[in-house]
Parts: sequence; C-alpha cells; structure tokens
Amino acid sequence: MNRVYLDHAATTPTHPEVVKAMLPYFTDAFGNPSSIYSYGQEARAAVEEARTRVAGLIGARSEEIVFTSGGTEADNLALKGAAYANEHKGNHIITTSIEHHAVLEAARFLEKRGFTITCLPVDQYGLADPADVRRAITGKTILISVIHASNEVGTIEPIEEIGRIAEEAGICFHSDAVQTVGHIAVNVDELKVDLLSISAHKLYGPKGVGALYVRKGTRLVSLMQGGEQEKGRRAGTENIPGIVGLGKAVEIAGQETAKEAERLRGLRDKLITGLLETMDHVRLNGHPRRRLPNNINVSVGFVEGEAVLLNLDLEGICASTGSACSSASLEPSHVLLALGLPPEQAHGSLRCSLGRENSEQDVGRVLRVLPGIVARLRAMSPLLKSSR
Ligand SMILES: *Cc1c(COP(=O)(O)O)cnc(C)c1O
Repeated sequence: MNRVYLDHAATTPTHPEVVKAMLPYFTDAFGNPSSIYSYGQEARAAVEEARTRVAGLIGARSEEIVFTSGGTEADNLALKGAAYANEHKGNHIITTSIEHHAVLEAARFLEKRGFTITCLPVDQYGLADPADVRRAITGKTILISVIHASNEVGTIEPIEEIGRIAEEAGICFHSDAVQTVGHIAVNVDELKVDLLSISAHKLYGPKGVGALYVRKGTRLVSLMQGGEQEKGRRAGTENIPGIVGLGKAVEIAGQETAKEAERLRGLRDKLITGLLETMDHVRLNGHPRRRLPNNINVSVGFVEGEAVLLNLDLEGICASTGSACSSASLEPSHVLLALGLPPEQAHGSLRCSLGRENSEQDVGRVLRVLPGIVARLRAMSPLLKSSR
C-alpha cells in the first residue's frame, strides 16, 4: 500500500538533493571549521555559504544568521537571550496564546524567574489583534513574540502591523517563522522583526538544525558558554552536515516556493471543500483565507481525533490531531482551546498538512476513505445519539 503522508507541519522528508549535499561533510570534508588547516577551512567555507543562502531567502545579511540545533533552540535563544540582554530596561514580555510550546514554555520559564508575561488572546480564527499588542505595552516591555503562522491551524498572523508597533515603541520583536520560511515569502524588513526562528526539517532539510535571524544591533545573551562559534552567540562546534543541508534546502525552497505554494493552495482548497461536503458536523478551524498554503484543520463532530488517526493509519494515511507534541498526551490542543473551541470539538480535530510529494490522488484518497471511517466511529458513539 502506498503511504500518503499528510503531516508536513510535524516534519518533512529530507529532499534527496539535500542528503547528497550533506554526505561529503561526514566523510572527506569532516574538518572542524575552527581549525586553520585546509580541512577546517573547507568546512568553514561550507558553513558561510549556507549562511549566505539562509540570509538571502529572508532578506537578511549573512552576519545576522545564527545557526542553532533547530526551531526549539532558536525560540529559546530568542526569548531567553533577549529577556536577559534587556533585563536592565524592564521585565515585561508580550506573547500570544497560540504560540508553539518552545515559545510558551520558554516564556513560562522566564515567568518563574522574575519576568512578567502577557499572553494575548486570539479571535475565533486564531488571529491576534495588533491593537491588543499596542494596549499591552508598558514602560517595562522588553520583548514581543508572535508566531508567523500557526503550526496547528495555519492562521497567518499580522506580523507587519505588530512589527510596526514594536518598532515605534523601540521594543525587540521576535517571530517564530518555522512554518512559513520555505513555504511562503518571508522578508525580515517587511515583517519588521528583530529575531526570527527557522527550522530545517520543516522545509525538507535535516532534523536537529535551524537558525535564528538576529537583526544587527539586537542584543542577545548566549544560552551556551564554551566557545566563540557564531560570534559568541552559540558556542559549540557547528553541525556542518546539518548546516549544509539547511543551506541546500533553502536554495531549493528559493527556486520552488512560489509555484509550489500555488499548487498546494489548490490541493488544500479541494480537500477542505471535499471534507465539508462529504460529511456532516465538520467545521474548518483557523482562518478561511489568511492560512498556510498546506494547512487543513477541521473539527469532526462526534468522533475522537485519535480514533480517526488510527483508522487512517490502517489505510496508509498519516495525519495529525492537534500538534505532534500534544498528540502523545490526551490534553486538547491549547491552540484550538484558544480559538474558543469546546474541548469535545478540539478532541475531534484533524490536521492534514500537505507537501511536495502530495498529489491530487492523495486528496482523492482521503476523501474516499475518511467519510466511511467517521460513519463507522459515529455508529459506535454515544455522543451522537444523545445529541439527537
Ligand atoms: C516544529 C516547530 C518548532 C520546533 O522546531 P524543531 O526544529 O523541531 O525544534 C517550533 N515552532 C514551530 C511553529 C514549529 O512548527
């Protein structure tokens, strides 16, 4: 049975060209970039080439890119690094209720250590309101962090507007752009961000590598001590194959993103329309228009998301309910609850995130298989009977 993978928001398959580009850096070109002999310098050159590529994709300068171990580290470096660098100015941080756990938990960590956090609500579509950000700013605000697009419901946030407010107030502004870089156009000057998180494995690169964009002049405290790598902003011998892989993934994304996003939007809308038409009690979560080209998130009434996933898996279809992190627990997704969904609708949520290998046939297969699964599960469900 051919597998249909519809969980690209959790991770993407590494592009074969990316793997090819990485391989020499495990073998022939294994040098340490801090060494001065030619082996080391070869590795150094590869890191700098990747840095230029990553910077190029988001309209940054190469010296503004800090390589990290992924999106989680980039988010932690942004929040903790900026918080501790600006401690002398204040202790107030503004964020939203739909952030990735890497931002939310880093904020919670800081809250336990003397910082105050304002967690702004979102509307029913998952949109944060720039006016709320403006109102939340106090004389002590040192950092604002708002996700570029939700990994769960796909809503694209008004980052430019919030960036303008942050800029006027002279407050450091971070955005987690892990779901957007390589998927839609991202430009750090247009978005007016000072810090921006990237992860390689969400854009067909390898796992365990990412980057934080740090605008020139933005003060950051390093989370790592022990070396001068990344201009002292991230100590530790660089993950050369990973960084090269990120560079290659970014190069491919630069060539393909615009066209691919258009294609995925078509598939996305076909799948959304199909789901709403073929089943009762289904509603779309997230914004109908301001959403990632590859994100479909629906609540299917009177079923458990986990039960739907297991049955889809038996049919060779991989999807998700809520985020990859929360699916191991049985807690409803904090993002869906923040949109105001009652817990039972949050429990019945299904996220499909499309990617490069997906075709029209894959969408067709979901639409053929899913209504039968849902009907079977509903026939066993006491929830549906009691509501009638
Ligand atoms: C996946 C993801 C992360 C974490 O990135 P890792 O590289 O897996 O650590 C952070 N933020 C968002 C929005 C994500 O989707």
